[in-house]
Amino acid sequence: MINTFNVTLPSGATWTPTFVAALNEEKCIGCGRCFKVCPRGVLELVGLNEDGERIRVDLDDDDDEEYEKKVMTIAHQELCIGCTACSRICPKKCYSHAAALV
Ligand code: SF4
Ligand code: SF4
Repeated sequence: MINTFNVTLPSGATWTPTFVAALNEEKCIGCGRCFKVCPRGVLELVGLNEDGERIRVDLDDDDDEEYEKKVMTIAHQELCIGCTACSRICPKKCYSHAAALV
């Protein structure tokens, strides 16, 4: 039988984490808000150049000339704890989340 992965909180309530499943890069404006609130280092901002290639973005030394657009990507999905902080702060509703099946 397939069940949804649940956690019992100290209060006794049941919580179903919904893990990050997808990020719509078409909608993303690269604002970085989700990156700032993610407690697990799941996300990474990348630049897309005119050929659609991904370029590393240095947040401290931002050289906009190398890329056309910045987008957030899910770099380490396995680290996600399903808190949904990223999608709650995203102004463009880029995220999809899903419960894990066990
Ligand atoms: S759900 Fe939480 S841990 Fe997972 S990517 Fe979003 S902010 Fe990070
Ligand atoms: S908060 Fe939304 S729009 Fe902003 S970088 Fe993250 S995914 Fe993109």
